[in-house]
Formats: sequence, structure tokens, C-alpha cells
Amino acid sequence: MNSFSVRLLFGFMILIALTTLSAGVPAYWLTRSQLERQAWSQVTSAQAATQSLLAAEQERLANQLGLFSERPTLQQLTRSQAVDELHLYLQDFQNQSGLDILLLCRVDNTLLAGNSDFADCPTDESQGVVLLNGRPALVAQQVVIDQQSERPLGTAVAGIWLENPFLQTLTAATGTQQSILLPDGHRLASNFAPEQTAATETAVANLPTAQEEGYELTFGENVYYAAYRPLTNSAGQTTLISEVALQVNSLVLTESRAFFILAVSTLSVAVLGFLLSFWFVRQVNAPLQKLTATAEKISQGDLVAPIPLFSEPVEIRTLAAALHRSQAAMLSALQEKSEVGDRLNALVQSLVEGVATYNADGRITFWSEGAQGILGWSAAETEGQHVNNIFPLSELDEGTFLDVMPRASQKRQIGVLTKSGKKMVLAMTDSQLIPPGSDTVQVALVFRDVTEEVAVRRLRSYFLANISHEFRTPLSTMNASMELLLDENEPFSLAEVRQLLKPSHLSLLSLQNLIDNLLESSSIESGQFALRRQPFAMQQIIDNAVVITRPLLERRSQQFVINIPPDLFDVVGDSARLTQVLVNLIINASKYSPIGKPIELQISPTADFLQVGIADEGPGIPHDQRQNIFRSFVRLDPVDQEQYGIGLGLFVVKTIVEEHGGQVGVSDRPEGGSLFWFQIPWQPKETAS
Ligand code: ADP
Repeated sequence: MNSFSVRLLFGFMILIALTTLSAGVPAYWLTRSQLERQAWSQVTSAQAATQSLLAAEQERLANQLGLFSERPTLQQLTRSQAVDELHLYLQDFQNQSGLDILLLCRVDNTLLAGNSDFADCPTDESQGVVLLNGRPALVAQQVVIDQQSERPLGTAVAGIWLENPFLQTLTAATGTQQSILLPDGHRLASNFAPEQTAATETAVANLPTAQEEGYELTFGENVYYAAYRPLTNSAGQTTLISEVALQVNSLVLTESRAFFILAVSTLSVAVLGFLLSFWFVRQVNAPLQKLTATAEKISQGDLVAPIPLFSEPVEIRTLAAALHRSQAAMLSALQEKSEVGDRLNALVQSLVEGVATYNADGRITFWSEGAQGILGWSAAETEGQHVNNIFPLSELDEGTFLDVMPRASQKRQIGVLTKSGKKMVLAMTDSQLIPPGSDTVQVALVFRDVTEEVAVRRLRSYFLANISHEFRTPLSTMNASMELLLDENEPFSLAEVRQLLKPSHLSLLSLQNLIDNLLESSSIESGQFALRRQPFAMQQIIDNAVVITRPLLERRSQQFVINIPPDLFDVVGDSARLTQVLVNLIINASKYSPIGKPIELQISPTADFLQVGIADEGPGIPHDQRQNIFRSFVRLDPVDQEQYGIGLGLFVVKTIVEEHGGQVGVSDRPEGGSLFWFQIPWQPKETAS
């Protein structure tokens, strides 16, 4: 049970206890004090009655003694000092009047007659309540006056013992136990139950100083409320103490019963109240617990957890309905937010540019599909990876990515390696951002692949440098020849003129080939390239190519070996373009072969194709470059620095051959060097004609 229930239950318990006690305790207290007040007032009344009875007894004693002392017989016997007769007379009167003490004393206060246990007469002060022979007594004295001579004959003393049975009489009259105590608390006489009397006689009462105050006595199982009054002699001196004690056993019993009833009723009301409040708390708490459990589920991520609805109590109904509305509002806000997020994400993901973010530790936190397209890493692979590992620099001596990263909002080109290890140039900008829900700054990178652009730019400057050289070399050769020929002082023979014109011819040839390749390449690039197809003899274009390339071959002392079948059939195609194909391949073979090494032309017809190959003994073409070299402006690292070119020859070859429906390629020559070949479709003459 949760703390709310416990608190509620606890609160109810306190309330019930307070309510029960607030009714029960005053009732108990009132009953108890009423009973006690009654008991105490009974004690007080008994006390007063005792006093009155003692006073009445004293008066009775005095009256009796007064009458007795006037008796003529007494006077006569006293005058005659007839002790024995007096003794009998006194005894007789004592028996009649119920007195405990009756003495006759002489004028000198010596004992004349009376109770045998008295040796002396009591003093004059021994009147009222006094201690006689160690026993409490109520005593009266009367001077016996001789009625004839009116002289005192002696003193008559009468008294009763303040012990049982007199105390019994007082008890009967007052309904309380009676005791006579010495002023120091010693109990001289009392009429408690016989079994208690022994205990009471030795007990010294601990009397309160204020005589109005009551006190409690306990003897065995009996409890008494008691009070005392001092008893005085005729001189007004306190001689003894009268104590009255009211037995209150029944009162104590009543009190403890009342207490028991109060306790039992409080306990039963509390138990009943507890059960009722338990039931009530459960009733109130059950819907609250359900709502709490649902709220807990929602907080743990189950945002669509169904919220139970209640018809009552009204507060719970309102609370459940409010939760319901909040859930709906939250879901719709989340939906909206997620739609906006999806849109933004789709937008970012659709960018061709790569978008990535990384945190203050340099760890990648976002990686777009564009970024994956550029560098090859997927979002899952980059997550949490360090940016330096995802963007390794292609030039190691530049340090790490973070060292060369552009400053905020600036653009920079950085050479990196892709996932597959390919070199790539990225144009990159960065900016700082604080993503929603985070308080740390992140860096956002936007980048695109500019490798091609950079390559084209390099190519352009490379092309310009090469083409100037390609033009300058033949032109300076021609210029030198012309100057020599125009020198009037030097008459040249025809053979010398021919000799002087040879280099110029070669240069012109090279220029012509260069210009042909440039023209073809530009018409290819502009999409205006078209073949002029017509049937021609294969032998014809071989002869043309030989004529064009002979000066170069001669200059490089390279023999041109033609290895072809004897009767070549006609081919349908663009003879000028195919001548150019042959010329380009022969010039390359010559250029990249060592001086003096032969060049070989091979032609092998098949059923559908005519395969033409030019073999040389040059350095060959590395395997990984065999596709590449057929692209425009691609040149391998020059093996021989003297060989310049602009990288268009093989591109033109490939385009022309493919336009004819054929293929080009290069393979290793078994004896060393390379074999450049092309195939063009053909039909043998018999079937073609
Ligand atoms: P260019 O010869 O003008 O440089 P090409 O397109 O004809 O341009 O050739 C491209 C590159 O291919 C050359 O730069 C050269 O490195 C290489 N190449 C072409 N033919 C040969 C060959 N027979 N032997 C070795 N390398 C060659």
C-alpha cells in the first residue's frame, strides 16, 4: 500500500482515537470525580458526625456526673469516708449508667474509691479527651459539694474508653471505620475488620499536615478514604486524634470498570473505524492506483497506454479526464513534432551534399545518406566514431582532419580517403549548432565531392601546357628548316633541300595528327561526331597509315612489320577515321617503344570481326590503367620525358571504333611490350556481295 493510503489510514485512526477519547475520557473523568467527591463528602460528614457524637457523649457524661455528685447518699458516704460502701455504690452506679470509669477523689486528689485498676486520681486537666493509663478516654470531672456545709467533699471522675465497643457505636452511627491515634500517628484503637486490626495497630499513620486534607489507606485488599480531626482536653490541648475511614473498595471497582469500559469501547470503535477506513481508503485509492500505474507506464515510454476512466468520485473522474486530454495533446504534439522532424530529416537526407555533425569530443552524432553516398560509410558505421577516423587525410603530412578543418563558416577543400581507400577532394563548410534538447555545442559539416572539378581544373592547365609544347616543337623545327632554305648564301642541291625538309615534314605530320585528334575530340564532346560509312579496301587504309607514319618510324629507326593475311576483303566504314585509328596506334607504338625496335601490325579476321593489333616492345600498360588510358586527357606518368602528348589519341581511337560497333583494348605482348587492338564488325566478301 502506498504512502498516501498509509497516511490516509493513519489520519483516520488518529481521528477515530481522538473522537472516542474526547467523548470517553471526559465521561470517565466526570464519573470518577463525581464518585470520589461523593466518597469524600461522606468522609467529611462522618467526621462531623463523629465530632458531634463525641461532643454529645461528653455532655452526657458531664450531665450524668452532675446529677450523680448531687446525690445525698454519695455525699453522706463521702463525708463518712466509708470506702467499701462507696466502692460498691460507685460500682452499682457505673453498671447502671454504662460508664467505663467512675472514680471518687479526695480534695487532695488522692483516690477514695472507684475502679480498681486506677491507683491515682487523674489531674484536673484530665478532662475531655485524654490518655488515661495509656488508653484513650473521654473524661468528665465534677467537684462534689457538701450540700449542708457547701464545702467541697472531693471530686467525682467519670469517663468512657474511646475503644471498642464505643468506636463500634460511632461506626454504626457514621458508617465509617473509627480510630483513635496519638498525635504522632500511632493508632491506639480502631475497629477495622479483625484481620486488619493487628496490621492497623502497628501502623503509624502518615497524616497530612492540613487536617482538612483527606488521605488514602490500604490494608490488604481494602482501600479507604480517611480524614482526621484533633481531639482536645479541657485545656484545649490536642491530646489524641480521631480518624474516620470510609471503605471505597466498590468505588475503586467502579472506577476500574469504567476505565475498562472506556478502554474496550475505544478499542472496539478504533478497530471498527480501522476496518471502515481501510475499506474507504481502498475505495478511494483503487482508482488512484490505477491512474498512477498508467502514469508510470507513460513515463516509461508507453505513451499510448490506455488511461482508465471513472464515473465517480468526481475528483478522480476529473483527474482521469484531464490525464486523458493531456495524453491526447501530448500524442498529437509528438506526432506533429515527429512529422516536422521526418520532413527535415527527409530534406537533409535528400541532399546530394553530405551532412554530418560531431560533438565536442569529435565523435560523429549524425551522418546523412548524402554523406554515405560520397564517402561510403553508413550512418551505423560512423556513429560514435572519431571524425579523424572517418575523414582520414589523403596527404598524411598535413596531420589530422581536425587540424585542417575549415574555420567556422569558411569553405575549404580537403583531400581525404573514402571508406574504400579512394582519394577524394571534398569542398567543406562547417558551422556550430546547439541541437534541440542538448546544451552542448556541436559542429555541423556540409561537404561535396569536388574531385572531378579539381581534376578538370588540373587537366585544363595540364592540357594548355602540353598543347603549347606540342605546337612549339614542330613549329620551331619547321622554322629552323625554313631559315636554312632561305639563306641565299647557301645554294642547296635538291638532295640537300629534301634532307632539310624532312624534319619539317615530320613536324607537319605530327601537327596534322594533333589537329585531327583535337578536331575529332571536340566534335565528340559536342555530340556532332558522325561516321561517313562506305565500303573500302582494308589494304588501302593500311597503306595510307604507313605513308603518314613513315617519317616518324624512319626517324626512330623502327621497322614496321606488317603481318596480315594475303587477301583482305573490303570493309564498310569510315576509312578516314579508321586510318586515323591506325595512325594514332602506330605513332604511340613508335613514341613509347625504344629507338630501333620494330613495330608490328597484325590482322586476324574471324567470322564476325576483323581484329587489328599494333604490337610494340615498349614498357607496356599496367593492368589497372588499361581502361583508364582510353579516357580523354589521361596520360600515364611519362616513362620517357621526351615524349609529349595531350592524351587524346586513345580516346579518339576508342570513340571511332565503338562508333563502328567494335571494341578496343590492350594486352601484354608475350615477348614484352604491349599489344593495342581493336575489332570492327565485318562480313566476308562472298556473303557481303
Ligand atoms: P598521348 O600519346 O598524346 O599522350 P594517348 O591517348 O595516345 O595520348 O595515350 C595515352 C597514354 O597511354 C600515353 O600518354 C602513354 O602514357 C600511354 N600509351 C599509349 N600507347 C602506349 C604504348 N604503345 N606503349 C606504352 N604506353 C602507351
